Amino acid sequence: MSVTHQRPPPRLEIRDFTRRFDGKAVVDNVCLSIEPGHVTCLLGPSGCGKSTTLRMIAGVEMQDSGSIYVDGALVCDTVFRVPPERRSIGLMFQDFALFPHLTVGKNVAFGLTGSGADKKVRAKALLDRVGLAHYIDEFPHHLSGGEQQRVALARALAPKPKIMLMDEPFSGLDNRLRDGIRDETLDLLKEEGASVLLVTHEPEEAMRMADEIALMREGRIVQRGAPYNIFNAPADKEAVAFFSDIN
Ligand code: ADP
Ligand code: MG
Repeated sequence: MSVTHQRPPPRLEIRDFTRRFDGKAVVDNVCLSIEPGHVTCLLGPSGCGKSTTLRMIAGVEMQDSGSIYVDGALVCDTVFRVPPERRSIGLMFQDFALFPHLTVGKNVAFGLTGSGADKKVRAKALLDRVGLAHYIDEFPHHLSGGEQQRVALARALAPKPKIMLMDEPFSGLDNRLRDGIRDETLDLLKEEGASVLLVTHEPEEAMRMADEIALMREGRIVQRGAPYNIFNAPADKEAVAFFSDIN
């Protein structure tokens, strides 16, 4: 009997993404992938094209060329497009703005479908998980920045996305809080089974959170690999200089 062991496709794969503004490619033939359950960090200095890449994956911006696959199935290229809300992709961006006029519970339940009771159960469970169930009927402005950030994470995870896109989600937080929230966030993402693409300009954050790093500069991926390998053998002088910030 012969058994074929086929590697499963990546959870998310981006092929040959390009985006030009005023004739200049700010995202230039980018290929990226995330394995199921992994955290891939898109790491690079400010202005290198990270957010534009993420916005195209989220479907809020259109690529000039290139395609997106989820579990091996095409969800978007320049002629075919599954609507963003049907790609099983959750988003958490820098300004994690909660809806100010909705309670914490309603914020978390916002993207859910089903009965009111079911939505409330899921919202309550997630708020419990992040230690904020007692705020379920409060409005967001009663919460601290760190607490709002946790609610935003709960909201993004509520519909059980396969993939979470996070754009510098910790950059607005106080240094003292950041390490703890990074660890809690990772734990919760893993528990929920989400595969993550995390954008950051901080090498330290990528080293702490990533299973794989894709190092970006001037619109291109210049190196990909495990954090340890990239840190120990940066691809070129610019990458060495970029990593020398870590102490
Ligand atoms: P990063 O997130 O890595 O800081 P961005 O993706 O935000 O980088 O931006 C990459 C480059 O694209 C920058 O030079 C930025 O000024 C430019 N850019 C981004 N969005 C637009 C836009 N809508 N119009 C023109 N230029 C843009
Ligand atoms: Mg950005």
